[in-house]
Formats: sequence, C-alpha cells, structure tokens
Amino acid sequence: MKVTLVKPQGFCSGVLKAVSIAKKAKEEHPDKNVYILGMLAHNKTLTDDLTREGLITLNDSDEFAAIESLKAGDVLIFTAHGHGEEIENKAKEKGLIIYDATCFKVKSNLEKIKHEIEQGHQVIYIGQMGHKETNAALSVSKNVSLYDTQLLINYQLITDKNPYVINQTTLNYKSIDKYYSDILEHVPGARIENEICAATRLRQEAVTKIDKDTDLIIVVGHQKSSNSNKLFEIAKSNYPDAFVLMVNDLRELSAIKDIETKRKASVISGASTPQYVVDDIYNYLLSK
Ligand code: SF4
Repeated sequence: MKVTLVKPQGFCSGVLKAVSIAKKAKEEHPDKNVYILGMLAHNKTLTDDLTREGLITLNDSDEFAAIESLKAGDVLIFTAHGHGEEIENKAKEKGLIIYDATCFKVKSNLEKIKHEIEQGHQVIYIGQMGHKETNAALSVSKNVSLYDTQLLINYQLITDKNPYVINQTTLNYKSIDKYYSDILEHVPGARIENEICAATRLRQEAVTKIDKDTDLIIVVGHQKSSNSNKLFEIAKSNYPDAFVLMVNDLRELSAIKDIETKRKASVISGASTPQYVVDDIYNYLLSK
C-alpha cells in the first residue's frame, strides 16, 4: 500500500509542555502521590504512558470530589485544557502541591475573557458543551454565555451591544464562520476574535490537501480529543469516497479487515497523539 504521513505530526507545543510539566512534577516529588486532574491531554496512549511513569490520572467527572479525595501534601497537576478559579482555590485550601499544565494558548484566552468581564462586557464563548476548556471559560463569570456548537445560544441573555466573542481553540476553522454570521445577525456590534490555535488550524488545512484518489484516511487520535474529532469530520466531508476512520492505536486498526483492499492511504494525527503510535501504524500499512 502507498502511505503518506500528513504533516504536522506529533505533539503540539501545548501538549509537549504539559508532558514536560507532568514529568517534572514526578521527578521533583518521587516519594509523593502525583495526580493529574483528568487526562493530561485527550489521548489514551499518552495517559497509559504517564501511568507507567507513576502518575495517577483521576476521574474528573466531578472535579471537586476528586480533589476532596486527596490529602494535604499530595501533588496535583492541572491538565492542558485549563481549569476554573474555584477548582484551583479548592486545591489550595486542601493543601495540595499544584502544577499547572494549562496550554499557553488556553491560558491566554482565559485572560482575555477575564479582561473583557472586568471592562464590563459580556462574552460569547463558542465551544463544545461539557469540554474542559469550555467549562474553564464559562467558570470565569456568569456573564460568559455559551454558544454551543450543537445547541446554539440564548440571545435573550445578551444585553451588551458590543459583546466579545471568543472560542474553544480546537474548533473546525471552516465551520466557525457560520457561527460568526449568526452572531452578527443577532448582535451586529459583536467584537469577534478567532482563537483557533495554529496547531489545530495547520492540521485541518493539511487534511484538505490530501490527494483526491486516496482511498483510506486514518486519523490517529482519541474519541475525546476535540482536535482529532474535527480532523475526522473534515476528512469525511472532503473525501466522501474514501474509507475514513479514527483509531487510538495499531491494535484498534489491525482489527479492521476492510483496509486490506485499499491501495493509497493517508495518516493524520491529533495534536495529543504520541509520534510512536503513528509510526507503528505507518509501518503496518506499508507492509500491506
Ligand atoms: S491543540 Fe492548541 S490549544 Fe490544545 S494544547 Fe495544543 S496548542 Fe494548546
């Protein structure tokens, strides 16, 4: 089979930094329990690798309860997706040693939201309901309203004539314009800033440039990874005749029989997928 690795590959700078912070936390506290408040970045292989290095990933379905279950002196790492101030205060009250692995881009967006709120503005946040990055943004103030990518928004809540519009970093850069048009139709004075991160945008652009005769497109990423899901979405809509699938790793891929009949494959990776997982898949496909 002819196989192309679609670049960029490997961890984005935000995930690279988060991994180095997590490893540093363990190195600096070898005798302590070192916890991560949920997946450091949304990738199962990465989570398993960190577990092997002695880091414990907490179930973050209730972040307050997860923190409550720890004891003073334990180490807690906040994930790359960001977290709310109340969560951080709770960890401090509890006497935990804190490491913050929030991506610089997510952090900068949270600062922008805070600034707008302090200036007396309302904020419209375009994001996926329930995602940690969205939760962190909404937790800044009740004056941040969610424009959910599925459910839209309650415009009655927006009384500011010039609200600030910002977004989750890993949205689909082609689809975001339709949200902007809708917002401007309802609130013509809205001030819009596109904050899709470069790592997300470059990967999405690269997907649209895959050869048209490719009959197999594999996104290597986790189903919770927002940027991987967007790559899958874009590949599906741009290449309706290709077999497009998303897998975590080679084990999942090798269980799929249909790929044996394909002749030309492209492999894309999410921003939190370890490179060695992609390399395994690449070599496997080459052998077909
Ligand atoms: S995908 Fe973008 S926002 Fe997310 S960790 Fe990477 S650089 Fe940061």
